[in-house]
Amino acid sequence: MAATHGVRNQPPPRVGHDELAEDAALSEAVAREGAGWALPGLGALGRLVGDPSWQERGRLANAHPPELVTHDRYGHRRDEVRYHPAYHELMAVAVARGLAASPWAPGAPAGAHVARAARYVLWPRVDSGTLCPSTMTYAVVPSLRAQPDLARLWEPRAVTGVYDPAFAPVEGKAGATFGMAMTEKQGGSDVRANTTTAEPEGSGGPGAAHRLTGHKWFCSAPMSDAFLALAQAPGGLSCFLVPRWLPDGTRNPLRLERLKDKLGDRSNASSEVEYDGTLGWMVGEEGRGVAVILQMVGHTRLDCVSGAAGWLRQGTVEAAWHAAGRWAFGAPLARQPLMRAVLADLHLESEAATALALRLARAFDRAEDDPREAAYRRLVTPIAKYWVCKRAPAHAAEALECLGGAGYVEESGLPRLYRQSPLNGIWEGSGNVQCLDVLRAMVRSPESVEVVRAEIAEAAGAEPRLAAALRRLDAELAAPSEAGARRLVETAALVLQASLLVAHAPPAVADAFCASRLGDGGGLAFGALPDGVDAGALLARALPGLP
Ligand SMILES: Cc1cc2nc3c(=O)[nH]c(=O)nc-3n(C[C@H](O)[C@H](O)[C@H](O)COP(=O)(O)OP(=O)(O)OC[C@H]3O[C@@H](n4cnc5c(N)ncnc54)[C@H](O)[C@@H]3O)c2cc1C
Repeated sequence: MAATHGVRNQPPPRVGHDELAEDAALSEAVAREGAGWALPGLGALGRLVGDPSWQERGRLANAHPPELVTHDRYGHRRDEVRYHPAYHELMAVAVARGLAASPWAPGAPAGAHVARAARYVLWPRVDSGTLCPSTMTYAVVPSLRAQPDLARLWEPRAVTGVYDPAFAPVEGKAGATFGMAMTEKQGGSDVRANTTTAEPEGSGGPGAAHRLTGHKWFCSAPMSDAFLALAQAPGGLSCFLVPRWLPDGTRNPLRLERLKDKLGDRSNASSEVEYDGTLGWMVGEEGRGVAVILQMVGHTRLDCVSGAAGWLRQGTVEAAWHAAGRWAFGAPLARQPLMRAVLADLHLESEAATALALRLARAFDRAEDDPREAAYRRLVTPIAKYWVCKRAPAHAAEALECLGGAGYVEESGLPRLYRQSPLNGIWEGSGNVQCLDVLRAMVRSPESVEVVRAEIAEAAGAEPRLAAALRRLDAELAAPSEAGARRLVETAALVLQASLLVAHAPPAVADAFCASRLGDGGGLAFGALPDGVDAGALLARALPGLP
């Protein structure tokens, strides 16, 4: 070793861990929300995502971004995206392990949406880009079912658990993945501003082929086998299934103009697409496109919550691990009171997010058979999507800071997490859009307020700070306004998270959450916890074996 180059006081990389076994909050939530049967499989996935060889694949897939091939050397259009082999390996294992459409597979057990949400909490340890196509392949199914003849062809290939990357007609493929194309240049949130047109090939109507002309400004995972797209049909904005290949074995004309130079993951591609006489088949009723695609949107929003909960967990464990192995001023950082307060607070956010994500997933599991769960899902989806995603960037920044300069360096993985962290807040309805959706749900589905409130009130009986916060929420609910919608939704999210922790988490966790989030005891930055919080109990829960 060179005389100047001794390496001391640097923690080893955190690899080879069983990520489920070390996450008590996650495994408890899985069992509580009705997916205890999935724990062995989740354990295997937890070990896989802790395995350095899979983490290396995640690194490779992001270090070698997808390449767009618009034309071949003779000038023929190709419109293909080439990915690094690691991306395909990650996709194959993600699909096989149930991250895609597994809850819709015939015979899927009750609790399948909860089990899948837990997989989403684990998966970001290797890569977040592969979550996008997995999500869309999951979320497309309920929308597809609006058109049974199309669902008969496509759904079995979505749920098969086989990732088949061949760029070929779907009829010969073992599995299919899906994307969605709503956003256009002039409007993303406001999809009714879509200008893409759809001309019927024959008489038109549900299930009929139409020629689509227009553009889509964001279309992720463009090598998916098919997309749900919105376009203006003669009878109004409608939903279409747009395959990459046509039934006669030729390519559907679908021009990939550019790949986005994105802030976040590089493993997955997001593209700009032109439709020029592109064939699409109408899904559901003509003029009801928004209602049809909202099914897909709603399920995607659940994934935004569970994926963001995964980011919070990842940031927490990386920060805690580093602080345990790094000394400063004569003691490990994880033994020093101020760092313990920061780590404890990061964990608190992560545990609250996990609890909310999995409770929400249970509502997705049960909504078909239980109107109260359907009502819960309606209101809590935008609340959780707003708040958990909103917390992710601040949390990632704080976790990164716990590693000091090392956290700013790409090899630590924290920069990847940090760049990715704002995505779920934007995608599938950004923050304000979620808040406006909460106001809409309150008006159109008042029973959802009653159901959610009743669940919170049950926990509030045991915790006066929660009872007081519920009264504040009641005041907000009584006088909602557009300008005040963020305040209302934030209060609702905190009260919901607190109610879950009061009902189910160890007392030290519930107490710390109520003390720091419900009253005026906590500060604005992570780590500004009120006196009396049991940081040791929180740290032990964050990462077993912490000093
Ligand atoms: C990496 C990535 C991948 C994506 N992939 C896809 C994809 O595959 N398919 C797809 O269709 N789209 C995709 N999108 C697009 C994404 O869904 C949109 O960007 C998003 O819905 C917001 O739309 P917009 O960009 O047009 O913003 P705008 O609609 O212009 O919104 C801008 C801001 O205004 C706010 N706002 C909007 N309306 C109101 C209001 N009434 N009151 C107050 N504030 C308001 C929004 O919250 C937002 O903060 C992707 C985006 C990203 C970043």
